[in-house]
Amino acid sequence: MHIHKISNQKHIHFLKEERKDPITGDLIVEGDEVVFCAECKSAFFKSSWEYIGKRHCNTESTIFIFPQTKTIRITNKYWELRKTQKTDDTTCK
Ligand SMILES: [Zn+2]
Repeated sequence: MHIHKISNQKHIHFLKEERKDPITGDLIVEGDEVVFCAECKSAFFKSSWEYIGKRHCNTESTIFIFPQTKTIRITNKYWELRKTQKTDDTTCK
């Protein structure tokens, strides 16, 4: 299990998302210890993760590297767009 301690400096983007623990519904704030489900990338309090039996989405895996959610989403969209444009070019020939 990979526990991430939320820091105001390192995880500013995460804090701006104002994520809530899916079990308690409490807002995740600086100093909280969280665990990310490897499947759905949801953030759980360490205590909530233990409460649900340390598994979610049929997996016990958690994320080792703190997910930079917003950045990743934007990058994926950008590359998908590029891929689509490439396909269109091929069709024109
Ligand atoms: Zn999950």
